[in-house]
Amino acid sequence: MRDTGFADDPCRHCEQMMQPYLDRALSESERVEAEGHLEGCDYCGRRYRFEESLRRYVRQTCAERMAPELKEKLVALRTPLL
Ligand SMILES: [Zn+2]
Repeated sequence: MRDTGFADDPCRHCEQMMQPYLDRALSESERVEAEGHLEGCDYCGRRYRFEESLRRYVRQTCAERMAPELKEKLVALRTPLL
């Protein structure tokens, strides 16, 4: 997949940044760019909130030893906004 910049196709670039952003794996300048876009873009903002709440939910449930079948279901639910 070609890596796009925010200038070419902001939402697509934002999507590529989403996982590293949630992993806190972006550089400072990338993080600032991603946050700027998330604040201004309704679509990516919703997507981000969904991903974040999914991660929180998965973390909680993993701590309680989630059944593997349930984990698979959650992974399948990942991209409902597309
Ligand atoms: Zn966007």
